[in-house]
Amino acid sequence: MATSDEDKVAFVSATRALRRRLGSGVVRTDEVALKEASFDSSRIAVRPVAVIRPVKREQIGVVLKLANLHGVPVTPRGRGTTLMGSAVPLHGGWVLDLMGLDAIRIDAEAGLAHVQAGANVGAIQDAAAAAGWFYPPDPSSKQYCTIGGNIACNAGGMHGGKYGVTRDFVVALKGFLPTGEFVEWGTATRKFAAGFNLRDLWIGSEGMLGVVTDAVLRLLPAPAARWTLLTSFADEVSAFRAARALFAARVQPAICEFLDRASVTCAEAAMKTTIFPGQPGRPVILLELAGSPAELRDTKKTVLAWAAAHAAGHRAAKNRAEAEALWAVRRKCSGAMFQMGDAKLNEDITVPLGAYEEFAVWLEKLRASSGLAIPTFGHLADGNLHVNIMYHKAVPAECRAAEKAVLALMKKVVALGGAISGEHGIGLAKTPFLRLQHSAAAIGAMRAVKHALDPKGILNPGKMFEVFEVWKAPRVTASFPWDHK
Ligand SMILES: Cc1cc2nc3c(=O)[nH]c(=O)nc-3n(C[C@H](O)[C@H](O)[C@H](O)COP(=O)(O)OP(=O)(O)OC[C@H]3O[C@@H](n4cnc5c(N)ncnc54)[C@H](O)[C@@H]3O)c2cc1C
Repeated sequence: MATSDEDKVAFVSATRALRRRLGSGVVRTDEVALKEASFDSSRIAVRPVAVIRPVKREQIGVVLKLANLHGVPVTPRGRGTTLMGSAVPLHGGWVLDLMGLDAIRIDAEAGLAHVQAGANVGAIQDAAAAAGWFYPPDPSSKQYCTIGGNIACNAGGMHGGKYGVTRDFVVALKGFLPTGEFVEWGTATRKFAAGFNLRDLWIGSEGMLGVVTDAVLRLLPAPAARWTLLTSFADEVSAFRAARALFAARVQPAICEFLDRASVTCAEAAMKTTIFPGQPGRPVILLELAGSPAELRDTKKTVLAWAAAHAAGHRAAKNRAEAEALWAVRRKCSGAMFQMGDAKLNEDITVPLGAYEEFAVWLEKLRASSGLAIPTFGHLADGNLHVNIMYHKAVPAECRAAEKAVLALMKKVVALGGAISGEHGIGLAKTPFLRLQHSAAAIGAMRAVKHALDPKGILNPGKMFEVFEVWKAPRVTASFPWDHK
């Protein structure tokens, strides 16, 4: 869908028609609103014609029907924390901002959360906890992002290995088809076997197959006890090998975070301390066990025996305050990486467990051949690693090296049987690599689904399938409250 001058004139006139229906409080065209909605955390920027912030669910149907009538592109938006450019209104048109629909209700008897798309994920977790329940999906951006955005991206987080990701907790969805009809996928019952499961088709569809307005989420009983252990290793290969031994011993940590040497070195420099005295810059695995006190007692014994056999050093927290101190290295590492460059490509690849050591050896070679710092950390229990390619924006040779390094990384993870994205999705930034992951037939099937549900291609057009030249894209200089989280 190209945006010609003629299109833009048509979008402006459609906006007037929409404003007459919904009012100027809902349909905004002021400078502040247009600027804020023009970019997400990728900082790729394209100005929309209007920003629509519905306060009632039915207004979304009106927006989509009018958009189809006039051919106006519509980009759904939560908080704009996506790093992939998936919330950028690439073809202008309307940004549909869901933040105004943010109700949360916990059904404490059924263990379900009834939420609207704009509800903040951290607030959902807090509401569940206040009722004695636990909502495990925990993206690092949870203080900011919306559940609608999490559903659209199938967001994950540190709890993924033991509990799963957003998809594993969505019981039912409500929302609008791209053509503006209201639909419900499932009910507030855990079992539902009536008809095709289009609920799961919407999850991870990056706002291209429908607009989520409401969700029912499954909750778990809150674990009564937690225990944290920090372990260090001689090198990355030893750490990966040890992690495999831990899982083979049938231990399922609630959290199993890995940080490589470079990540630890940056965090230690930022904290002005060495985590294990006399062993600076060693890779670490941070473990958190969660469960009943009885479960933890047994598992702790297994884990301590594992640490004694595999780790160079280990330290267990005796209480929550000590656990928080052990967590400092993980919290600091992301921001601290900017000691190694002023720009970061934060990749979220996955690697199968059996390929961990091979990947570690390969990554070391990539560091050497690219000449770039590539600090890596991530969630070991589900193979989701954040490979951070650091470079300096003003140094063309480093930009070229970073571009080459990402392509090499994507090819390698696919060759190892992993994924080019474990949790961030494709958006604009990963469009050059979709063909590495999927065959032409598979992409053809995805496009056919998109066309069947959105024949005029109005919902979040330009994402996923068309290759976007990310290095040439105009970007804004902007700082976000979530920078370096
Ligand atoms: C510091 C930081 C840390 C992060 N950590 C993680 C992490 O640990 N795990 C992880 O998975 N991600 C992480 N992310 C990425 C991001 O936070 C997630 O992808 C999140 O799900 C986006 O939510 P949002 O509300 O900001 O959505 P947006 O960024 O506004 O939108 C993201 C996509 O969802 C679509 N969308 C939004 N709302 C709806 C809706 N109601 N209906 C249909 N489509 C919709 C948009 O069109 C877009 O395609 C991180 C990002 C940052 C900046």
